[in-house]
Amino acid sequence: MLKGKTALVTGSTSGIGLGIAKALARQGANIVLNGFGDVDGARAAVEALGVEVFYHGADMSQPTQIEDMMRAAAERFGRVDILVNNAGIQHVAPVEEFSVERWDAIIAINLSSAFHTTRLALPAMKAANWGRIINVASVHGLVASAQKSAYVAAKHGLVGLTKVVALETATTGVTCNAICPGWVLTPLVQKQVDAKAAALGISNEEATRLLLGEKEPSMQFTTPEELGELAVFFCSPAANNVRGVAWNMDGGWAAQ
Ligand code: NAD
Repeated sequence: MLKGKTALVTGSTSGIGLGIAKALARQGANIVLNGFGDVDGARAAVEALGVEVFYHGADMSQPTQIEDMMRAAAERFGRVDILVNNAGIQHVAPVEEFSVERWDAIIAINLSSAFHTTRLALPAMKAANWGRIINVASVHGLVASAQKSAYVAAKHGLVGLTKVVALETATTGVTCNAICPGWVLTPLVQKQVDAKAAALGISNEEATRLLLGEKEPSMQFTTPEELGELAVFFCSPAANNVRGVAWNMDGGWAAQ
């Protein structure tokens, strides 16, 4: 379905971003990978699906590096057709103890980076009259949890940005939507499980059950593969008129 298209997925060396990159590659899209850590592993996993892969290591907190990545991606593949704003970090602390440096980093990586990639990708998408912008927000873009001030503010902001971009592109072939996962067992969440186990002196298994039980009625993690399939749907012709939605895949979290 996406043969000949190019998808750039920020933060795609791990977790949800890698899951989405693989799902889009299975549909034939060439992939621009971004992120830190196991770059070679991610590249090999996507290349194994038979598409072309280009990696750029832009730090998504740095607008000039983002500009360089968007320029390099366009040079390599001609255009970015599908933009998935996924890179994100977490930090947990009460608001009066929240480190100013962590606040600034979360707003920059989880929110401002999507503004930068979007403003840079849109002109070519509009010129081609086709494009898909998919923002990986969170159920925390819809509801809050204590101790996550920066993350919740950034994700609510990202849902707001999604709606504005959807309105500004409403009469074009470009759509912009957000995905709002509940718990997904990636390194980002594993850290929170480990912290809970250490704080309460309980096993990892018990901490996982507690984490799910507090928020997610299904008592199941959403998987990167399931989120990848939702991204594929947003890229399909059936989703041509899906605009500005914040689609939760959260085991019932936000239904409570
Ligand atoms: P992860 O830690 O597995 O992956 C994060 C990715 O972002 C990695 O590739 C990492 O290298 C990259 N990254 C981090 N800082 C970066 C930076 N400054 N510049 C470039 N890349 C950077 O986490 P994940 O759980 O897969 O999270 C992906 C997205 O999904 C995030 O936006 C997160 O907020 C969101 N999300 C996650 C969950 C969950 O339960 N895991 C739930 C809802 C939303």
